[in-house]
Amino acid sequence: MKPHIVVLGGNFAGLGSAQKIRQYCGDTVRITVLDRKDYLLFVPNIPAEVYEDRDPSKTLSMDLRSTLAEDDIDFIQGEVKALDVDAKRVDFVPNERPGAASESLHYDYVVVAVGNRLAFDKIEGFAEHGHTCTDFYYGNKLRRYLHNDYKGGPVAIGSARFHQGDGTKDIKLYGGHAFPSAEAACEGPPVETMLATATWLKEHGMGGPEKVTVFTPAGLIAEDAGEQVVGNLLKIASGMGFNYVNNGKDITRITKDGVELAGGQNIEAELKIIFPDWVPHDFLKGLPISDSEGFVVTDTTMRNPKYPNVFAAGDAAAITVPKLGGIGHAEGEIVAKQIAKDLGRMSAAEADKELEPVVYCIGDMGANQAFYIRSNSWFGGPDQVLKMGHVPFLLKMQYKNLFFKTRGKMPDWGLDASKLLAEKMFAA
Ligand SMILES: Cc1cc2nc3c(=O)[nH]c(=O)nc-3n(C[C@H](O)[C@H](O)[C@H](O)COP(=O)(O)OP(=O)(O)OC[C@H]3O[C@@H](n4cnc5c(N)ncnc54)[C@H](O)[C@@H]3O)c2cc1C
Repeated sequence: MKPHIVVLGGNFAGLGSAQKIRQYCGDTVRITVLDRKDYLLFVPNIPAEVYEDRDPSKTLSMDLRSTLAEDDIDFIQGEVKALDVDAKRVDFVPNERPGAASESLHYDYVVVAVGNRLAFDKIEGFAEHGHTCTDFYYGNKLRRYLHNDYKGGPVAIGSARFHQGDGTKDIKLYGGHAFPSAEAACEGPPVETMLATATWLKEHGMGGPEKVTVFTPAGLIAEDAGEQVVGNLLKIASGMGFNYVNNGKDITRITKDGVELAGGQNIEAELKIIFPDWVPHDFLKGLPISDSEGFVVTDTTMRNPKYPNVFAAGDAAAITVPKLGGIGHAEGEIVAKQIAKDLGRMSAAEADKELEPVVYCIGDMGANQAFYIRSNSWFGGPDQVLKMGHVPFLLKMQYKNLFFKTRGKMPDWGLDASKLLAEKMFAA
């Protein structure tokens, strides 16, 4: 019997892992992907669609069943309820129709790629007074609000406090650098939304950056992009007139009139665009593979140290900080190589390349412009690059188009070409 590899989650990290496992292991394995929804949600471009008044659900979803079928990968639509790593079993409830009975799947290898809960439900007042753009529902809600109800008042944009867990305490990166700790899960989106909101305000004759306050729980917003990059970004942003509140600690509550922060600051705002805490799913909490918060512990080859047939990739992994799809994508490739090595399909020399995380972020600024960040200095690496202009915007759109065209199988040259275009040829 072929070894059965079960991939939990079918978005960026899950789909990428499954495709790469097929590429490196060929038809020697059986692969099953399990996800509660049967499409890929292309999250990073939601803000760009919202500010252009396009429904992101029409442009940013990719059918998962047919995509996986191209590689002879089975798909099950169901809700994962439990993972028993000793019995090598996943319990799930099929969810195409309500009322299904609980089912189980046995695996030889499992890849946990279920992302996180974006915990809006932990923020008091969010449901009544908050907005965001993290999925199709919230994206469309913000789009309608902006285009129908917004009166032109002040705007507050920022994140709740992230709780990282202890799963990275023994990890060293880039030749010995201690793993850093983050106070926000992913601050590219607030920076992107801040810039895009100001452009939108200008285009609609409602003001500009002076109306927008961006806040962070940390001492420095988007600190994972590197101090030099963020320093330059902040200089540009304050020159444009944006307001900046740091050391907010956490969001205490959102009211009709604004955002109250645990650091004591109150930000007056009509529109509140919020990014929450990224929290592990309940079924991962307390497992022998999980850290103090419920993130899955791995080494730098994405393998759990206690259960060598358990891997994690993407936001669910403790090592994925900040929570970025780009890092998850690199991890999926590492997972696949490790499994191929175990099955005798790849040499250790080729497979044992450790994760070297890089913050790659291309954020929409509106008016067909974007910022481009490529940085690994926060992890101990040497690079910090920031570019802004029309070329990064073009790259953001082309990346999405290529992703859909190749059904997630981005060519290896794609990243190198982006780097060359953004950093050497055009952008300022
Ligand atoms: C507005 C915004 C902009 C962003 N921009 C960027 C960017 O420019 N660059 C970048 O690299 N990253 C960006 N990110 C981060 C990026 O979206 C995430 O890092 C990425 O989506 C993580 O991928 P993942 O596959 O690990 O998790 P997810 O995308 O969260 O996918 C998890 C999958 O698991 C499934 N699942 C979860 N629980 C269960 C369960 N119990 N049973 C069955 N299925 C389950 C879900 O349905 C989902 O399909 C952005 C995020 C936001 C919110």
